[in-house]
Amino acid sequence: MPATPAWPPDSLPRLFIDATLEEDGEIVIDAAQANYLVRVLRLKAGAQIKLFDDRTGEWLAELAHIGKRDAVLRVEGKLRDREDVPDLWLCFAPIKKGRIDWLVEKACELGVARLLPVRTQRTIVDKLKPARLKSHLIEAAEQCERTALPELAEMVSLDALLADWPEKRTLFYAAERGGGSFGEALVAHDGPAAILIGPEGGFTEREDEAIRALPQAVPVSLGPRILRADTAAAAAISLWMAGRGDWN
Ligand code: SAM
Repeated sequence: MPATPAWPPDSLPRLFIDATLEEDGEIVIDAAQANYLVRVLRLKAGAQIKLFDDRTGEWLAELAHIGKRDAVLRVEGKLRDREDVPDLWLCFAPIKKGRIDWLVEKACELGVARLLPVRTQRTIVDKLKPARLKSHLIEAAEQCERTALPELAEMVSLDALLADWPEKRTLFYAAERGGGSFGEALVAHDGPAAILIGPEGGFTEREDEAIRALPQAVPVSLGPRILRADTAAAAAISLWMAGRGDWN
């Protein structure tokens, strides 16, 4: 029984390379990436791979040499430029492991440009593991033909986020109580945007007041039912992408 190809037959494996790619360049990949290509995908020397660098775009490369603990990829030619990504940030209170991984993966797939973890009063996660979250972002981008990665910012407190809020950026605040129509808000507010989603326990009254006091904040409802934070994030991003993003 031939091994099931890990990739659909008509598409090549894709890898994110955190270095600027160029024609005829040689990339030495580390043990983890080499192991993935050689032992998981069972690629042989000469196999073709697609690479993207979140800088120039996507390139075709060849698995030129397989070492004991690394491998060399030779870049052949450019396939496409880095994609344009809509200017949408997701500000989110970190939620527990597993669900936060899902949240960042979906934010990447849906086209968010920047992820900002925000520590709020009821945030149950006090320490983030950025490297783990970044690996989920990269894996989602590799699997979904992306040529751009969302930026993952350092976690900040809600007060600091609000104090430094950029003047020209609308903050669509997902307010499970007292939010207005998201559809109407999208018509009224174009330009750079962000979505703010609270933790499992929601925002405190003081936080709600502080957010609403921000001139750029627009409280919006995600319907009459309370959604889990990760569901709320995916729903809000989808609504923005359909209304103001690049889905039309
Ligand atoms: N505060 C509620 C509680 O304590 O059970 C639920 C918080 S909810 C799980 C997490 C976040 O998702 C909320 O802070 C809000 O940002 C967003 N959210 C969930 N349902 C929503 C809705 N129907 N409308 C707007 N935002 C919602």
